[in-house]
Amino acid sequence: MKTVGIIGGMSWESTAEYYRLLNEGIGARCGGLTSAKILLHSVEFGQIEEFQRAGNWDACGKILGEAARGLESIGADFLLLATNTMHKVLPQMVRYVEIPFLHIADATAKAIADAGLTKVALLGTEYTMKQDFYKGRLEERGLTVLIPDEDDMKQINRIIFEELCMGKTLESSKAIYLSVIDQLAARGAEGIILGCTEIGLLIHPEDTALPLFDTTKIHVEEAIQKMLDE
Ligand code: GLU
Repeated sequence: MKTVGIIGGMSWESTAEYYRLLNEGIGARCGGLTSAKILLHSVEFGQIEEFQRAGNWDACGKILGEAARGLESIGADFLLLATNTMHKVLPQMVRYVEIPFLHIADATAKAIADAGLTKVALLGTEYTMKQDFYKGRLEERGLTVLIPDEDDMKQINRIIFEELCMGKTLESSKAIYLSVIDQLAARGAEGIILGCTEIGLLIHPEDTALPLFDTTKIHVEEAIQKMLDE
């Protein structure tokens, strides 16, 4: 089994999911007491979030690049950056290491193509929904990507940072997400990308008729296949 290195803590609420899902998935595939070989570097998210707001992405890239290098030096075979948003600085991070990253948007685009869909909606932080590093990357892979209107994007973003990243899952916020999902479905979305690693803590497949593409689960599944060389 290969060893996966995770750069996490953004937020730790979702990194805990990565840890659980990787171990459950490896256990289910291999049986018995088999568990996942994981190295984790969990960063201090308060500092990262301040740099995000200040637009100091270079500082983020440096912290995360150095974390990646550390994981490589202690034996990681490949890396997961356990947040969609911070893939913005992946081009900077890759300069710190030789080992590969599994890009969360590429894994997601593949899962959507495998499901036979082409028009999907993207929910995530405002950085992820609006900027090209993520949405553009999906479009380059042949997808049509819808995003919520401006006011809804603000709400979706606020709930991520003020609630989900702090372990709060409120029914009122779930209702907001589901109403945005309904509007996106009315605009033609065939599926919804949960493009923030915490959204799966709030919205579950049974909450909506549309197929959900939960980036945390997709990223983990791709990692398990690589760990086992499937
Ligand atoms: N975990 C989130 C994501 O997947 C947001 C936190 C962050 O800004 O990294 O985008």
